Amino acid sequence: MAAATEPPKISSSPPENPENHQSVSAVLHRTLKSAPPQVLSANGKYVSFSDGSRILDTTCGAGVACIGYNDKRVREAMINQIDKFSYCNSMFFGHPIGEQLATELIHGTDGVMSKAYIMCSGSEAMEAAMKMARQYYMEVSPPQPQRVNFIAREGSYHGTTLGSLSMSGHVARRSLFTDMLLSNIGRVSACNAYRGMVEGQTVEEYVQQLADELDRKFQQMGPDTVCAFVAEPVVGATLGCVPAVPGYFKAMGEVCRKYGALLILDEVMSGMGRCGTLHVWQQEDVQPDIQTIAKGLGGGYASIAGMLINHRIADALKGGTGTFSHGHTYQGHPIACAAALEVQRIIRTENLVTNVRKTGHQLGALLHEYLDPHPQVGNVRGKGLFWGIEFVADKATKEPFPRSANIANLIHVKGMKLGISLYPGVGTMDGILGDHILLAPAYTSTPKEIKEISLKVKEVVYKTFEELP
Ligand code: PLP
Repeated sequence: MAAATEPPKISSSPPENPENHQSVSAVLHRTLKSAPPQVLSANGKYVSFSDGSRILDTTCGAGVACIGYNDKRVREAMINQIDKFSYCNSMFFGHPIGEQLATELIHGTDGVMSKAYIMCSGSEAMEAAMKMARQYYMEVSPPQPQRVNFIAREGSYHGTTLGSLSMSGHVARRSLFTDMLLSNIGRVSACNAYRGMVEGQTVEEYVQQLADELDRKFQQMGPDTVCAFVAEPVVGATLGCVPAVPGYFKAMGEVCRKYGALLILDEVMSGMGRCGTLHVWQQEDVQPDIQTIAKGLGGGYASIAGMLINHRIADALKGGTGTFSHGHTYQGHPIACAAALEVQRIIRTENLVTNVRKTGHQLGALLHEYLDPHPQVGNVRGKGLFWGIEFVADKATKEPFPRSANIANLIHVKGMKLGISLYPGVGTMDGILGDHILLAPAYTSTPKEIKEISLKVKEVVYKTFEELP
């Protein structure tokens, strides 16, 4: 029998009899027909697999491992917490490490936010945000119980649970479940300069067009029936790292204010330093009422996410029932809080957000230099250390590749062969156009590593297209 520490020998190719799932993997992976490569170890920015291969993790997994893997300081902080207590029912009790983390998070919003609610995943945080928005209008004086609707955007991703998926405009992830999703969600266009702006249009005109569209949606749904407008400040997985044009969020915030609705910003992927400020809204001349955070919060050392609420919301609840009508067994998990507190301490004391800004400029400039000339690169865009590259069949018309061409996945596979991870996103479905890849390197990246990453991405992209049949 194999030693307990040895991983099972798993072939990365499909089994001869695909019906025999157990022969592939006992884990229910995304696909049941083949098992993904097994990770055996990860250190710093590198991840090693059971087949002996090693990659430079330029996406921090799913945009998570922002300070790199295996940081001994985070390990120490988690062990210290385990030695005190490993779990706490945070629905009934508080604990010092949760208090410290919440204080750190509130401090990072320059006093805009009032309270932090800690959970385990981005989807949970979005569910909590929806319920919080609804509860706010039940508690505010006088109550506005007619506010039951939300407005979200096309091409967005807010999570995989039914509420958060209902909010999402990710057509492929919604398609099987459409009949089960919430019907109280209206949708407006994404802010996507590459796909949305027409020839000759100024940024101001584009912003006005989107603000008018949001205004019309409020009117159509009933202006006083909407709880909140919900958006990712930089669209991550669905469209492939698309920042808003300047002035967009300010204008959307004004429409929300006009109708007395809340602004919910989903910074699960783009926040906690990833885009060059702790929160993206700090660059946008807008302040959310509710904000969600996750990936860079715990850097992957624990499953942790958060919802931050501003004073308006907190005061309404304090003056009302005094209770948030929500709760999770694992909310405010002390070990996760210890991990996140240490990750955030490292980010703050080592000025890593400043490093994100500096190396982000370098990464953007190099990606433009290396990839803009490629005939199949339609658009390179990003903010901080969060960049996307969109591929097109025809650069002049921006015609996307057909879905069957599987371009983003081919680039991902080529990247893995050449030792680099690139997060693929497949568009070309019901209004979501364009295969793309995402890059989200660690906040600790050096200029030398950024150069290496950019050259590698160039090599991967050029080779993939050269080798197309
Ligand atoms: N919101 C955004 C913007 C995301 O990118 C994601 C995940 O990628 C989620 C929500 C859902 O987070 P989770 O996968 O942790 O549930």
